[in-house]
Amino acid sequence: MDVCFRWMQKNTYSLASLVPLIPDNSIVKTPHDGIMIYSFATRQKESVFSEVDSSTTDSIYIAGGPHPSGSVEDTLEHFDYVVIGEGEETLPELVRTLQGGNIPSDVKGIAYRKDGNVVYTEKREPSDLDKYPCFDPEGIRAPIEISRGCPWRCKYCQTPRLFGNRMRHRSIDSIERFAKHYSDLRFTSSNAFAYGGNGVHPEFDKVEKLLSRLHSMEDKKIYFGTFPSEVRPEFVTHEGLDLVDKYCTNRSLSLGAQSGSDRILKEMLRGHTSEDVSVAVERCFEHEITPVVDFIFGFPDETEEDQQRTLEQIKWICRKGGKVRAHYLTPLPSTPYENIVPAPISASVHKVLGRMARDGKLNGNWDK
Ligand code: SF4
Repeated sequence: MDVCFRWMQKNTYSLASLVPLIPDNSIVKTPHDGIMIYSFATRQKESVFSEVDSSTTDSIYIAGGPHPSGSVEDTLEHFDYVVIGEGEETLPELVRTLQGGNIPSDVKGIAYRKDGNVVYTEKREPSDLDKYPCFDPEGIRAPIEISRGCPWRCKYCQTPRLFGNRMRHRSIDSIERFAKHYSDLRFTSSNAFAYGGNGVHPEFDKVEKLLSRLHSMEDKKIYFGTFPSEVRPEFVTHEGLDLVDKYCTNRSLSLGAQSGSDRILKEMLRGHTSEDVSVAVERCFEHEITPVVDFIFGFPDETEEDQQRTLEQIKWICRKGGKVRAHYLTPLPSTPYENIVPAPISASVHKVLGRMARDGKLNGNWDK
């Protein structure tokens, strides 16, 4: 039975790590006969479900990724199997079982329907990152994943729900093996400055070991703590910034601030204050590093006063020469905010955001 991965612009990171694990597969842009594998987020669900529902191929449909993992039963209205959470061990085992013509009831970490009921198999333990590739150098590539999981529980975020609360790290030897394939090194992590540690307290000796090894490789530019990863504000210390100064090419740092209201930060279990964000921003400027700070509007019960506090902090960052990305909250499956209705952005805040965007001071998408 042929195995095909459905390629989409937004799922390349997932495909980069999974495609090398399935022998003799194809990458396709429409459904084909055989086993069809999809990975997608909530924003893509409508188009994916519509494609699968209208398909006329003779296929077994497997779904994985953030939306299916968080919304299993909804996904099983359209798909035959859901791979829940990490796919590196589960997906190859599921594919082998299906190709052998067997029922995958012994494959851990999946869900499927049987006699109208949803069956969940035994949960699978988080995988050891070193056992699996970040990408196939000859195939789809992605930034190097250095860490997975997060000990925090921000209520809007799927990361700890999908990958667990224990932060796991790829070893420096493994990271170096993938770094050989790039001249510009970019990374994914829930918090790049937490490399090597538990994600609650920085262990900069471990970050330095990683960066010094990568820096010793020939002709490498290191972009650390910047897109597509970011850092938590309370991890932005002079010690951490010294490492960026010493080893890295980037002169900007991506920080997650999320709200300027301490009431909202506390309610969402963010684990830091707005003052932590201000301190992190000041420290970046002391190192002549441009902070690029993310904010979200629309948290449940967010009042105009909360939004004004966020706006004040945004203006302050922009006045100092920092950059801001503003977003509107998307309630994601499996998170505590899954079923909330995001608070509307007040007209006056919306107007100022629009003006700042037109003046080139911030970007993002804060419309529903
Ligand atoms: S938003 Fe960041 S710190 Fe919070 S739970 Fe998600 S990954 Fe962790």
